[in-house]
Amino acid sequence: MRTKLFAVMGHPVAHSLSPKIHQLFARPFNIALNYKTIDAASTALFRQQMANFFAQHQAVGMNVTLPYKTVAYQSIANQLAADSDLHLSKAANTLWQDTQGNLTGTNTDGHGLLTDLEQNLGVHMSGRSVLLLGAGGAAAGILPQLIRAHPKSITVVNRNPLRAEQLVARFRTLIDAGKNNASKNDGSEYVTSVNSIRLEDCSQAIYDLIINATSVSLNQDVVPFDKAIVAKALVYDLAYHPERITYFNQWALRHGARQVFDGMGMLVEQAAKSFMIWHGVQPDTSRVIALLKKHDR
Ligand code: NAP
Repeated sequence: MRTKLFAVMGHPVAHSLSPKIHQLFARPFNIALNYKTIDAASTALFRQQMANFFAQHQAVGMNVTLPYKTVAYQSIANQLAADSDLHLSKAANTLWQDTQGNLTGTNTDGHGLLTDLEQNLGVHMSGRSVLLLGAGGAAAGILPQLIRAHPKSITVVNRNPLRAEQLVARFRTLIDAGKNNASKNDGSEYVTSVNSIRLEDCSQAIYDLIINATSVSLNQDVVPFDKAIVAKALVYDLAYHPERITYFNQWALRHGARQVFDGMGMLVEQAAKSFMIWHGVQPDTSRVIALLKKHDR
C-alpha cells in the first residue's frame, strides 16, 4: 500500500497533537500515513516549504496552524468559489490539491467547535446568548458556523475594540443571510443578532455561553474581562491542555461559571473533518478525545 504524506505547518509546531490524532484516526481503517510537523520560521519559508511539500509525489494534505492560517488562505484564494466562507474568515487550516493539481483548502475549525459543542457536549445553540471573546484568527474561523447554528445572539468583545467591530462588519452579508434562513426554514420568530461591544460595556451576567477565542490561556495573561460575565454561564475555552484545566477556565470556575469545557474536542473534531476530506471516511472521534484527555474537560 502507498504511504500517503501529510504535515502540519506552523511556528512553533513541535508540540502539535495533529500527527498523533491522524495516526489514531487512521489505524482502524488500516490507512498507512506519514504525518510530519514542519516548522517555518518566516512567511517566506512557509510558502517555500508548502510548495516543496506538495511537489512530492506522495503528498496528500497539509494542516496549517498559528501564525500561517491567513497566508494559507492567501495562497488558495483564487481557487475558491466567490461565496466561500474563507473570503470572510481569511484563514485556512486544511490544504490539498484538487483533481487539476491546484492547491485548494478550507477551514475546519468552526465545524470542530460546533460538533464538539452540539454533538459531544450536548450544548445546543438554539436560543442561546453567546458571548465571543476575541477577534483574532480563531474567532474569524469559527464565526461562519456559529452564525449558521442560529443562536439567539452573538456578541463579540475584544481587547482591541476596533478589531471586534471590523470582524462583525466583515461578516455582515453572512449575518443578514443567516437571519433570512432562520425565519424561512423553521418559521421561528427569532433572528440571530450579531454585534460587537466594548470591553467596558461587557459587565453583566446576561450570556449563557461564553466562548473564549483569545490567547489568554496560552500566555497566562491577566484576564481583562469583568468576572461578572461568567457567573452561572457555560464556558468553552478554545485553548486546551492534556493535563490540567486551562488558565481561562480556572478563572471562570473561580468566578462562578456553571460548567467549563476546553478545546480538545474541537481540536479532534476539526482534525476529523480534515481526515474526512483527505480519506473519505469518518473517524471515531470519541475514542481519540478520551485517549488525549487526561483530566475532566
Ligand atoms: P490570534 O489570531 O493571535 O488572536 C489572539 C486573540 O486573543 C486576539 O483577539 C487578541 O486580542 C486576544 N488576546 C491576546 N492576549 C490577550 C489578553 N491578554 N487579553 C485579552 N485578549 C487577548 O490567535 P488565534 O489564532 O485567534 O487563537 C486564539 C486561541 O484559540 C488560542 O488559544 C489557540 O490555541 C486557540 N485555538 C484552538 C483551536 C482548537 O482546535 N481547539 C483552534 C484554533 C485556535 P487583541 O486583538 O486585542 O490583540
